[in-house]
Amino acid sequence: MTSRTPRSVPAAVYRRRGETPVEMRDLPPVESGQVLIEVAYCGVCGSDLHLIDEGWGTPGDVLGHEWSGVVVTAGADVDLSPGTAVVGGPSPKCGACPACAAGRPSQCENNPKMTGTFDGAFATHVVRDVTHVLPVPAGLDLRTAALVEPLAVALHAINRGQVAPGNRVLISGAGPIGALAAAVLVDRGHHVVVVEPAPTRQELGRALGVAAVRRPEELPMFNMAQVDTIAEESFHVAIETSGKRVAMETAFQQLQRGGRLVLVGTGMEQPSFDPNRTIVLELTVCGSFVYDDGGFETALELLAAGTLPTDALIDQVEYGLDGVAEAVARLARGEHAGKVMVRPDRLEPT
Ligand SMILES: [Zn+2]
Ligand SMILES: [Zn+2]
Repeated sequence: MTSRTPRSVPAAVYRRRGETPVEMRDLPPVESGQVLIEVAYCGVCGSDLHLIDEGWGTPGDVLGHEWSGVVVTAGADVDLSPGTAVVGGPSPKCGACPACAAGRPSQCENNPKMTGTFDGAFATHVVRDVTHVLPVPAGLDLRTAALVEPLAVALHAINRGQVAPGNRVLISGAGPIGALAAAVLVDRGHHVVVVEPAPTRQELGRALGVAAVRRPEELPMFNMAQVDTIAEESFHVAIETSGKRVAMETAFQQLQRGGRLVLVGTGMEQPSFDPNRTIVLELTVCGSFVYDDGGFETALELLAAGTLPTDALIDQVEYGLDGVAEAVARLARGEHAGKVMVRPDRLEPT
């Protein structure tokens, strides 16, 4: 270990609802097989909204799992040298259970705990097992690379939707996951419609080049007696990212025969789906949790290819560690459209 290795570092620590004061935290020693990373960017996730703004977090935790950074110190048996640009990789998986064997780590039976929920990257430095970081492809900047986790989540939702060439796709909610999914599908040449109530996010949807952006009230709703009625502009797949009950129910009603609704946004209010409509139109409602095996690698390749409009997908405003709670609150109010990045080396919001 070199003299550049700090022993304690500033971190935004969750204390209570809406409060993440910057405190000094001891860094664990860098063991064999581990690296110390200086965090460059850490995105604010929808899960951080639940944990910080809604008060579901555990006091003392440091959140932030969507990070990029640079290796400062490498322990023994590590083939990443200092200076290497890296991103946080997928959550640990057991690799042995039936789900892991089937390439579905989101359903691993033995390690459901997400990394970064207690020693996350809303801090200037993190220590990680080298198996849980991935090198950033040459030419990909650290700010864009920090999109890798939410992009892997969006790609998984698209895969769960079994989106096929020529499919028309409804994206419900243009927060970061919805916007990323929309951007990928536009890039692949799909007819994409975004439904979103917040003006800033409607604007983002338009910037992504989708076929149309609609307000929720512009979509038709059907009653129980209209089982066989299909929305005029119906969709093969609807990807629901808002977690709002009404949005889930509305998205369900936009499906054409044989359509699939993918639920990726979590919410506390439970929707009700008409079983008769599900039967008569042979609809599928499925969930999508985290990412596929190899999802981070695919996401990194896609980001490095440079075809996604990442300038629109990442909000121009950056926060320092002392702005984490404010960033989360403003995101929850829909004031930010794209992914909001925290730059731990910056103290004031720009
Ligand atoms: Zn996330
Ligand atoms: Zn497993």
